[in-house]
Amino acid sequence: MLILGLESSCDETAAALVTGDRQVLAHRLAGQEAAHRPYGGVVPEIAARAHVEVLQPLVEAALGDAGKTLADVDAIAATAGPGLIGGVLVGLVTGKALAHAAGKPLIAVNHLEGHALSPRLADPDLDFPYLLLLVSGGHCQLLLVEGVARYRRLATTIDDAAGEAFDKTAKILGLGFPGGPAVERAATEGDARAVPLPRPLKGSPEPHFSFAGLKAAVARMAPDHAAADVAASFQQAVVDCLIDRTRRALDKADGATALVVAGGVAANGAVRAALQALAAEHGLRFVAPPAWLCTDNAAMIAWAGAERFAAGLTDPLDTAARARWPLDPDAEKVRGAGV
Ligand code: ATP
Ligand code: MG
Ligand code: FE
Repeated sequence: MLILGLESSCDETAAALVTGDRQVLAHRLAGQEAAHRPYGGVVPEIAARAHVEVLQPLVEAALGDAGKTLADVDAIAATAGPGLIGGVLVGLVTGKALAHAAGKPLIAVNHLEGHALSPRLADPDLDFPYLLLLVSGGHCQLLLVEGVARYRRLATTIDDAAGEAFDKTAKILGLGFPGGPAVERAATEGDARAVPLPRPLKGSPEPHFSFAGLKAAVARMAPDHAAADVAASFQQAVVDCLIDRTRRALDKADGATALVVAGGVAANGAVRAALQALAAEHGLRFVAPPAWLCTDNAAMIAWAGAERFAAGLTDPLDTAARARWPLDPDAEKVRGAGV
């Protein structure tokens, strides 16, 4: 089985070819950092335009890298949400056009499902169910991954995502964009105990997250401290929150065979090390994809497509792009009522 995957939900344009037995035959990625850097964040219109310009050439390059043509592909998987709607539309419409032209099925992939299943691309031994900390630029959730298309959300953030807090901290410290890798680099030179930052929701009974107060505290205290100390203290505060909340969720994750992390923030070395220790404490396997598979890419979309295709799940060509698309709609209803 060979799947072509397309990703364009934020500021990475990407195309990849992945087989059903986990071979990444090609993965091409075009970042847009330079275009967004002057604004200190992703500008949706600039992102959408850039996706239009580079997606088609990336598809051709990926096919060339793999020595394949569209005729060799079994299905085309494109991110259909959630994300910046202009970008999502570009990828989904491109996927539909290719599917129609080549007479191949379309698979409309939820970007979060791409992150959620990416650890199974990296590790053939990772079986369902597993407890997943999905920690990215727009999301911070604990999910029990019970199977393909079967996600039970145990917790979410009540305000900001952890990646967003990294990006904001980098902006406050003048470290540039994107913020996560810059904060991680700066943190290596700093003292994690130098700045007394809060650990929002630490110890609270439900495993939800909150990062808005931490962000505000960074803004308040940054002027009085060295940037490296703020970066190190901030990163430690995030790690402490993630670990405390994940530990709490493990109590509710009966039957989980592994503790798994995915999403852009999962590329962070301190986050990975702390989660690995937590898993060991609980006698659980720890699985984290390589860093390139944590941040946005099309291999994870192709792989999610492969998992869905194997389960007989394809989508009609009139499938709509969605700016919002929860993995666990039941949990979203509860959220509407409170958290
Ligand atoms: P979502 O997946 O929620 O829609 P997104 O696609 O924008 O959001 P990802 O690409 O998965 O997010 O992750 C990007 C985020 O990961 C950014 O906030 C970035 O700062 C953060 N990030 C990337 N590398 C690191 C790192 N080494 N340390 C901490 N954060 C990181
Ligand atoms: Mg990005
Ligand atoms: Fe993402």
